[in-house]
Amino acid sequence: MTVICWFRRVLRLDDHPALVAAAAAGPVIPLVILDPAEARARPASAQRQVMALPGLAEALAARGSRLVVRRGDPAAVLARVIRDSGARVVHASQGLPFARDDGLAAAVEGAGARLHLHPLADLVARGSVLTKGGTSFKVFTPFWRALRQADIAPPLPAPDLAAPDRWPDSDPPDWPEARAAMRRGWDVVARHVQAGEGTAQDRLDAFLGRIAGDYVQGRDRLAEGDTTSGLSDALAVGEISARRIWHRALDAQHQGRGGVEDFLRELAWREFSRELFHAAPDLDRACWRREWNGFTWRGDGPDADAWGQGRTGIAVVDAGMREMFVTGRMHNRVRMIAASFLVKHLMIDWRIGLDWFARCLTDWDAASNAVNWQWVAGCGPDASPFFRVFNPDTQAAKFDPGGHYRQYWLAPEAEGARQFAKAAPLSWRIDLAARPAPLMDLDTGRQDALSAYRDFAGRMAAAR
Ligand SMILES: Cc1cc2nc3c(=O)[nH]c(=O)nc-3n(C[C@H](O)[C@H](O)[C@H](O)COP(=O)(O)OP(=O)(O)OC[C@H]3O[C@@H](n4cnc5c(N)ncnc54)[C@H](O)[C@@H]3O)c2cc1C
Repeated sequence: MTVICWFRRVLRLDDHPALVAAAAAGPVIPLVILDPAEARARPASAQRQVMALPGLAEALAARGSRLVVRRGDPAAVLARVIRDSGARVVHASQGLPFARDDGLAAAVEGAGARLHLHPLADLVARGSVLTKGGTSFKVFTPFWRALRQADIAPPLPAPDLAAPDRWPDSDPPDWPEARAAMRRGWDVVARHVQAGEGTAQDRLDAFLGRIAGDYVQGRDRLAEGDTTSGLSDALAVGEISARRIWHRALDAQHQGRGGVEDFLRELAWREFSRELFHAAPDLDRACWRREWNGFTWRGDGPDADAWGQGRTGIAVVDAGMREMFVTGRMHNRVRMIAASFLVKHLMIDWRIGLDWFARCLTDWDAASNAVNWQWVAGCGPDASPFFRVFNPDTQAAKFDPGGHYRQYWLAPEAEGARQFAKAAPLSWRIDLAARPAPLMDLDTGRQDALSAYRDFAGRMAAAR
C-alpha cells in the first residue's frame, strides 16, 4: 500500500522517524509542500528550504525514489496528493508549535487517509525530562543537568525506499512568493547559504575537528566566524538532526577534544526552547510571565523601521542588522545586543523584533526565536531581568575590540557594507557614506527604560 511521507521541515534521509515509519509501511511518495503564506511571512527561511531541495532530490534519486514538490496550502495539497496517488496513510513530523493542527488531520481524513504525526528527532521526547515533582523545567541549568543524565537515543539510519507504481505530478522546486518578498536580497543571501544534508554532516565533522577549549569564549568574539558550528540553519530546515550532532560530539569528546561540553550545552538551549514551546504553544505571541502582557511597549513606527534597516546610529546594532539582511544569520552575541536595544532602549514590543527576525533569518526556528526574544525582553522564564540593560557600545568594545566586525558592515568601502547596499530594497535609499546620528543617547535611553520598568513594577505591586 503506497504511503506519503511529508518532509515537513525535515529535509534529510538520516534520522528521520516519519520516513522510517513510512518506508516500513510500503512504497513511499516523498512529498515537500511549499506554502505561499509561509514564504510571505518568513521568506529567508523559505529560501533556505528551497536551497535544500536539489540535494534532497538527488539523495532520493540515488535510492531509486523521487521527490514530489507541490505548492499550496498544506491541508489542500495533502488532500490532492492523496486523491492523485490513492495513498491511505500520510506520515509526517510534528510541526511547531507542537499542538497546532491547522486542519491537517481533517483534510487528510476527508480525502480518505490517516495522518500519523511522528516526533521530531530532538534529543529527548517532549515532556520526558521533568523535575522531581513531575513538572516541566522553567529554569535552564537544572534542565541541562537532567538532560545530561538522560539517554539520548541513537540516530536512525536512512531506510531503503520502495517506489510506488506511479508517481504523482511535481511542481518545480521554486517558491516564487519568497523570491518576490526578498527581491534583490534573494541572490545576495543565497551566496551565504551552504545547503544539503551531506554538506551539514561535513560542516559538523569540520567543526568537531577544530573545536577547542575556548569555544565558549570564542562564541562571543564578533570578528571570528568559525569558532561556532554554523549549523543553526541546517538544524532549522532539518538537514541534520540534533541527535546526530549530539552523538558525533560525544565521540569527539571521548577522543579528547576540548569545548565539547559547552557545545552540548548550547544544543541543550535549543532543546529547552522546544520544551518551553511545548508547555506554552503561544510563546511567540504572549509573554510567559503573564503580568508582562500589561507592559506598554511602543509599536511599529520610524524607530522600529530604523532598527530593522540598520540605521539606528548605534554601530554594533546597525552592523548586526546588516549582517542578518545579507547573510540570513547574525552573530549570537549581536542578536542579544540588537534585541536588547530594541526592547529596552527603544522600548519597542519584542514581538516586532521577533517578526523581523522571522522574516530575515535563514535559521529561523519558532521555538528558539521566541524563547530568546522573551529572554532578552525579561518576560520569559529564566529570562534576563528587565533592569539588566546592555550598553551596546560597552558590549562592542568588549567583544569587538579591534572594531573589525563593525567596520566590515559599516565602512563604506568594506565588502559587507557593499553587499548590504546590493541586498537592501531601493526604497531604503541606502547611502553608505552617510552614517546616521544615534537615535538616542544610550545613558538617557537606559534611564528611561529603568524608570518605565519601575513604574510598571509599582503598578503591578499595587494591583496585587
Ligand atoms: C533574539 C535572538 C533570536 C534568536 N533566534 C534564533 C532562531 O530563530 N533560530 C536559531 O536557531 N537560533 C536563534 N537564536 C540563537 C542563536 O543566536 C543561534 O542559534 C546561533 O547564533 C547559531 O549559531 P551556531 O549554529 O554557529 O551556534 P553554535 O554555537 O555552534 O551552537 C550549536 C547549536 O546550538 C543551538 N543554540 C545555540 N545558542 C542557542 C540559543 N541561544 N538558543 C537556542 N539554541 C541555541 C543552535 O541550534 C546552534 O546551531 C536567537 C538568539 C537571540 C538572542
